[in-house]
Amino acid sequence: MGSHFFDGANPKRHDIEPDIGPDGIAFETERGALAWRYGDLIRLWDYRPAAHLAFTHKRHQDSRLIIEETWATESIGRYAPQLIDRGSERWRQTGIGAAVAAGILALIAGLYFFVPPVMDRLARAMPWSFEAADRPDLDALAFMIGERCTAERPNEILRGLVGGLLRTAEFPHPITVDVTSSRMVNALTFAGGRIVLLRGLIERARSPNELAAVIGHEIGHVVHRDHTERWMRQNALGAVSILLFGFDGTSTIGQTVFETGLSLSFSRDSEQDADRYALRLLNRLDLDPSGGAEFFERMKAKGNISSLLPDYFSTHPNSDGRAVFFREQGTGTRQALTPEDWLILKRICDRTD
Ligand SMILES: [Zn+2]
Repeated sequence: MGSHFFDGANPKRHDIEPDIGPDGIAFETERGALAWRYGDLIRLWDYRPAAHLAFTHKRHQDSRLIIEETWATESIGRYAPQLIDRGSERWRQTGIGAAVAAGILALIAGLYFFVPPVMDRLARAMPWSFEAADRPDLDALAFMIGERCTAERPNEILRGLVGGLLRTAEFPHPITVDVTSSRMVNALTFAGGRIVLLRGLIERARSPNELAAVIGHEIGHVVHRDHTERWMRQNALGAVSILLFGFDGTSTIGQTVFETGLSLSFSRDSEQDADRYALRLLNRLDLDPSGGAEFFERMKAKGNISSLLPDYFSTHPNSDGRAVFFREQGTGTRQALTPEDWLILKRICDRTD
């Protein structure tokens, strides 16, 4: 009896005296010295009696090392408990699982807190040409938001209003603002500095300053490069979610929740930034912002907001806070247009032919 070894090539039993070290088990056979590291050992758990430890080697799986002496099994237990106690091996794996889960949570938390500001800066550093190439034609958008409203004098007045805001914005690239014939109440910003106000919004607005607040908000999206940022975010999220959830062509619920959660949390930030930007423009131009505040309250009370298209109203769940923000932080006193010009501007979608 005693510890012994089979080399796997022939059935001869080699009696050995194991030398148990911190890194592995060393022993002499007639054919030379061997040193098996614990990391290379595979415990054969079904070997009986269980008090004797039977091992094979990862690279020599026909060989067998049987340790019988109690002192030796105790020493191995101290250096490599996972080889003695199956429970501890399971615990070790559970520990690894927990560590991986914690790592994924940390990564998600990192995405929430770390990626948005980085993306934001990256997006603003991207050349404008990158986004300008994606600027859509109004014709291509007509199926969604109607035709451009062309009444001449109202468009002139609109250009005057927008021009004042843009001069204050001092953005170095062109930004255009058009009105289209859709009756939905919304304002949209497309890539490359294209802002579109829908007819429904013009009709519901009760003062030129309400309109100026909305346009200022959309200019904020352009200046902050929110389009580029959204594009970058969507692509980055795709990559990260493939890493985390694997790619099998179908989207799991976890993945969907993950992506939606992230994109919502980002866009709420850029909406707030756009509001702050709009208010800065109004303040610099000395425009009274209280009209803007009332607009938000009215729209909210009506619950009559198009969620078909993204942006101005559909992405602002909290119109209350917005109204308060404009009222409390606004310092201006002027109206953006004379009452006469405002009435003319409201007829921008009337046919002139
Ligand atoms: Zn917005």
